[in-house]
Amino acid sequence: MKEKLARFMAGRNGVDTLGKTSLWISMILLVVTLFTHQGWVYILALAALIYSYFRMMSRNTSKRYLENQHFLQKTYKIRSWFAGLGNKAKYQKSKAVYDREQRKIYKIFYCPSCKQKIRAPKGKGKICITCPKCKMEFVKRT
Ligand SMILES: [Zn+2]
Repeated sequence: MKEKLARFMAGRNGVDTLGKTSLWISMILLVVTLFTHQGWVYILALAALIYSYFRMMSRNTSKRYLENQHFLQKTYKIRSWFAGLGNKAKYQKSKAVYDREQRKIYKIFYCPSCKQKIRAPKGKGKICITCPKCKMEFVKRT
């Protein structure tokens, strides 16, 4: 079965970014159709679906390649924006994990005179903390 498929797909364009995007658009439009019952949305969804299959099955790979490159160029800004969102989410997640780890090891104090945030190791009992900013000394229990 796999071999048959491989032979069938040989020399064809296969899945590329433009084809994948087109498939996604058709899926989204199909969902929209479920909610809005708009005939033209359904037709657009079918058109996008047919187009993505057409790309996959196409034997004119050089032309499809150029189309895909063109599409990638046109959508570069949007795609990098989405990629940026993903990285931002990843960064915020790792920062949250980092903060949680820090709170396990350190206790956070604020300098009584200049409100500077100061980290002190936990479980040391009463300690004298010197503010790194204004050199004010104060005693805290950690
Ligand atoms: Zn201070």
